[in-house]
Amino acid sequence: SPSATAQVGVVGLAVMGRNLARNFANHGHTVALYNRTQARTDDLMAAHGSDGNFVPATSVEEFVASLERPRRIILMVQAGAGTDASIESLLPYLEEGDIVVDGGNANYEDTRVREENLRAKGLHFFGVGISGGEEGALNGPSIMPGGSKEGYAQIGPLLEDISAKYEGEPCCAYIGPDGAGHFVKMVHNGIEYADMQFIAEAYDVLKAAGLDTKAISDAFREWNTGDLDSFLIEITSEVLDQVDASTGKALVDVIRDAAGQKGTGRWTVQNALELGVPVNTIAESVFARSVSGHADLRAAGQASLTGPDQTFTPDDVATLVEDVRQALWASKVIAYAQGLDLIRTGSIQYGWDIDVAEVAKIWRAGCIIRARLLERIRSEYAAGNLPTLLAAPSISEGLANAQKGWRRVVADATLAGVPVPGFASAVSYYDSVRAERLPASLIQGLRDFFGAHTYQRVDVDGTFHTEWSGDR
Ligand code: NAP
Repeated sequence: SPSATAQVGVVGLAVMGRNLARNFANHGHTVALYNRTQARTDDLMAAHGSDGNFVPATSVEEFVASLERPRRIILMVQAGAGTDASIESLLPYLEEGDIVVDGGNANYEDTRVREENLRAKGLHFFGVGISGGEEGALNGPSIMPGGSKEGYAQIGPLLEDISAKYEGEPCCAYIGPDGAGHFVKMVHNGIEYADMQFIAEAYDVLKAAGLDTKAISDAFREWNTGDLDSFLIEITSEVLDQVDASTGKALVDVIRDAAGQKGTGRWTVQNALELGVPVNTIAESVFARSVSGHADLRAAGQASLTGPDQTFTPDDVATLVEDVRQALWASKVIAYAQGLDLIRTGSIQYGWDIDVAEVAKIWRAGCIIRARLLERIRSEYAAGNLPTLLAAPSISEGLANAQKGWRRVVADATLAGVPVPGFASAVSYYDSVRAERLPASLIQGLRDFFGAHTYQRVDVDGTFHTEWSGDR
């Protein structure tokens, strides 16, 4: 129809959808707009209507009619029920070959079901992970699209256009079929949990050693100029620098120490348990948030448990700061290794054929976990098929160099009674995977003892069972 002038449409104009629509418009695209509650559309038009070419619609029918074919529609609505309701409302007006993109934080298993249902109707459905928060949505997020290759030819260039750029390269690339994009976004968020837990532990150790908030902020700012250079390290200094207007204290000291969560960390761990992939540090990070939120448990612990007073005096402050930096870097590498293992395994399980180097590539800018380390990870995976990131020469060498400081931090913190679940889990994982022999042999003995579960031997092939209770 002659009135179909929009190249892309956005449904859902809350903070993310609004900014994504503006991003498309800023790149010269004509953007159709629809939101269930008309007021959001009106607000967007009032505030930014003249910044670009927008076609606001007051009904789904009008919205669909304003789009060029094949229609390219991005849903940025509340994940779950919002996505299903929006799809249902669009279906009567869509035609074969149209493309529906879910840009919300959907569970990848839901995405698989939706993709199958829409494919049966001749539509392309994309589950697209979008990271970078509201600022990223406006100025360039990292985008992880999953869906058909054929559909990607239609929607990919648009998404690449509005994505963040790393040295000119878009932080958006085809990930794989159906749920692959949302799966990768889920693991991204799991790694984000671990990254933040390590940062919090680094802060806590330095604080326990007597550094004031300003000194800790300065340490993070310094770290951000080296190997640890990343968005989260950068904003840590800013968060620590913030002064509370009403008390004059560092704001971080008046924020309640109970961490919230929306579920993607938990999904990562649940999925890892099902696929049998050890993502220890991510699990510890989810559990650490859980512990922080259990007021009753913590009150009971404070009332009944004794131990060191959770402060310590370092021999040399500069050495401690460097040790903590090493612990942070090494633990971060372990978390990435674990998360990327989960992606590799998920890819095999679901037949997605995900290129891990491409994943690292699109995480280099735009997303919350963007970090200098990711370029190194990308090049290591691009160079060869790694069984684990830890096998990459530059990575194992880095860990070898970092481990003295890393171990000292875990030991000193533990002796002082400062909890470091993330750092400790990371170093234990490192020691577990490099150990020639694990005490799993004893576990096998126990299992055979009480349940006749059998075991294998190091010297002879076969399956064995011992009559343990014979002559006791
Ligand atoms: P949100 O608060 O998650 O969702 C609000 C939007 O969903 C509104 O436009 C609302 O329409 C619409 N909606 C809810 N239920 C609906 C239904 N049954 N039918 C039709 N529309 C419905 O918005 P957001 O924070 O902008 O996030 C959008 C998506 O992006 C979510 O999936 C979120 O998880 C994901 N995401 C968010 C961030 C972030 O930093 N916030 C980052 C990455 C991804 P009404 O105006 O009519 O209520």
